[in-house]
Amino acid sequence: MMAYVLIVILLFQQETRNAIKLNSFLTELGITNIPPYKEYFMSYNIRLVVASSEHMALLKQLEKWNMKYTYAYEFEFSEDEMNNAPLYRLRSIVQLPENKLPDKYGTIYKKECLCSYCGLSESIQQTELHFDTSIMKKRHFINQTATVTSGSFTIVSEAFANIMEKKKLSGYTLRPVHHVGSMAKRREVFQLILNNQLPPLSSAMRFEKMTKEYCAHCNITGRIFWPLHYDYESIIHSKDFNQSKEMVTIGNTIIDVMVVSSQFREICKAVKIDRSMVFEPVIVVN
Ligand SMILES: [Zn+2]
Repeated sequence: MMAYVLIVILLFQQETRNAIKLNSFLTELGITNIPPYKEYFMSYNIRLVVASSEHMALLKQLEKWNMKYTYAYEFEFSEDEMNNAPLYRLRSIVQLPENKLPDKYGTIYKKECLCSYCGLSESIQQTELHFDTSIMKKRHFINQTATVTSGSFTIVSEAFANIMEKKKLSGYTLRPVHHVGSMAKRREVFQLILNNQLPPLSSAMRFEKMTKEYCAHCNITGRIFWPLHYDYESIIHSKDFNQSKEMVTIGNTIIDVMVVSSQFREICKAVKIDRSMVFEPVIVVN
């Protein structure tokens, strides 16, 4: 796995002097993609290998100049890691719009506060899901991320649930979903409940503490997860569907981390629903 950092610096017209010194510093470092000067601003997008000498030197210099920047990570997996991983972290590209979430249709959630210091909370589903299932359209699988008012949940179509059962996938149960709205547009769907929790991540797992957002009281809020690393022994007993033990947050809301088997990925490919999903390989530490 290769880790890259994308550093974005925005300089406005009144900061021309900063642009001159930054440009010459970047040139000295051997960074050549210096943006052309535009009338009002210059926007730098610098992609470097994490912890490379260029990365370290640039951070040090930006700090010294007190120059503001934002950054994000990007991970590249080898073909072997991508195709031969035993497990994958699963994310669904398709997300339902806020006004179509189950809490708007009568699903009850209980909000539990996990850290009074940063306000970290979790929405715990108290009833079976109620929502307008026509929003699924022809989709077979949606893994919805939690929001402030609604918890994370996963929906599968009846047709796909039948395939999963036929293939004897493990680690889940199905719960009924109550359709709200026009009966003509009703879709037969189920809520997928994960019932296997994985052991803790490997000690080789890396978390990044976001400078402003990180909460030292709970050590949960404001942590960026690098790709999941598991020790070999920890995943021997994994199922086709699993949940990580560690909690991930967006803002101060808990979201689920779903870890699926390579067999599930193969089934998604076979029925051609894999394009609406991101399968990020788990790195196994021996
Ligand atoms: Zn906290």
